Amino acid sequence: MSVRRQTANRLTLLRYCETCGKAITTTADTPFVRQMPKGVRRQATVYFCSESCKQASYKHLFDGKAHERRLQKDRNRDKEKERERHREYYTTHAEERRQKAKLRRQETPGMAAADSAYHRRKRKLLIEEAGYESANQSVG
Ligand SMILES: [Zn+2]
Repeated sequence: MSVRRQTANRLTLLRYCETCGKAITTTADTPFVRQMPKGVRRQATVYFCSESCKQASYKHLFDGKAHERRLQKDRNRDKEKERERHREYYTTHAEERRQKAKLRRQETPGMAAADSAYHRRKRKLLIEEAGYESANQSVG
């Protein structure tokens, strides 16, 4: 942590380690500090006595279940609702999008056609790849 000014006597405060509760003296250049939700405050500055205590405050993020949490989040998503929202957006912004595409075609001739060709090729390859993988899975 950076210190603004090097001084002989820096203000020292007695604080408690957030992880182990040990009393520690802290100054402005105490390295084991971070913002954490604490009590009613969403972000509070908390202090730690050591590197390992600071690391321990992140433990819940590295419990190896991040992927499972993501999957659970995906399962909780209402896909039909999202699809409906996207459909609504495209119908309300159709004219705007059409104008934008037209403008782009006028400003950069050939670019839109090249992009379309690229995406067509990409989609084709993805479909082929997916077909290949499903064929592989059925065999293996
Ligand atoms: Zn500690």
